Amino acid sequence: MSPRTNLKSLGAALTRLEAASGMGRKNCPVCRWYQRRSGPDPKNPEPYPGDLLTSKCEFCHSEYTTDLTGKSEEEREEIRLENSITLKDEYTDSRASAYRLWTWFQPWQKQIWKKLEEDQKPTDPNARASQKLCSELESLMKRRHKRLQAKYGEDPFPEHGRLARAIADAEPGRRKKMSFYVEGYRDLEWEETRCLISAQLEKIIWGEVWARTAAALEKVEREIEELIRADEAKLMATRVVFSPR
Ligand SMILES: [Zn+2]
Repeated sequence: MSPRTNLKSLGAALTRLEAASGMGRKNCPVCRWYQRRSGPDPKNPEPYPGDLLTSKCEFCHSEYTTDLTGKSEEEREEIRLENSITLKDEYTDSRASAYRLWTWFQPWQKQIWKKLEEDQKPTDPNARASQKLCSELESLMKRRHKRLQAKYGEDPFPEHGRLARAIADAEPGRRKKMSFYVEGYRDLEWEETRCLISAQLEKIIWGEVWARTAAALEKVEREIEELIRADEAKLMATRVVFSPR
């Protein structure tokens, strides 16, 4: 038997073993979850080898290839980090912990939740399979987190959460200048908080604020200023209308 045939039959035996033990790419909830959402698009042209990132699933050790074609340097850095850290790192490595918190403040997080909600709707033909996969994933994660928390504590890097809370709780002085309720202000204020938290965490994770975060912060601050000016103008107009002749 040639070494190649040997390897092939070994690979097949391993797949059978994995299937029998309930593991392997086809059984692993994490792999099934990510496979539904990403992976190189076969319709796209063949990527350059330098644009391919190889990583492993920490649960079943299946190997993955992610196509980085067309991604900005910032996006590549994020994908590399996302694919290199494990759940354990989030409890033992300050940078990994800051990164996990940072992900919760990214605009794409909203899209994930939206897609999740859509998948769970009973009208979706795959809703039942999707719900089953979600609950499998949830219980797997819960088990792993529970084990890690027992060993390293629930929040080994509380400074990151404290930093985010301090930014979120800071009362912007400008709110006092505004009339009682201005439509759209709350959303803009949340976007500003999101950007400020992201910026501080990016300094911890990558040593600098991402250009897109800085741009988003500049944009939202401009919009807030415009809203305040419009609010003041409206107030002035009201005063004119009700002023005694
Ligand atoms: Zn897996």
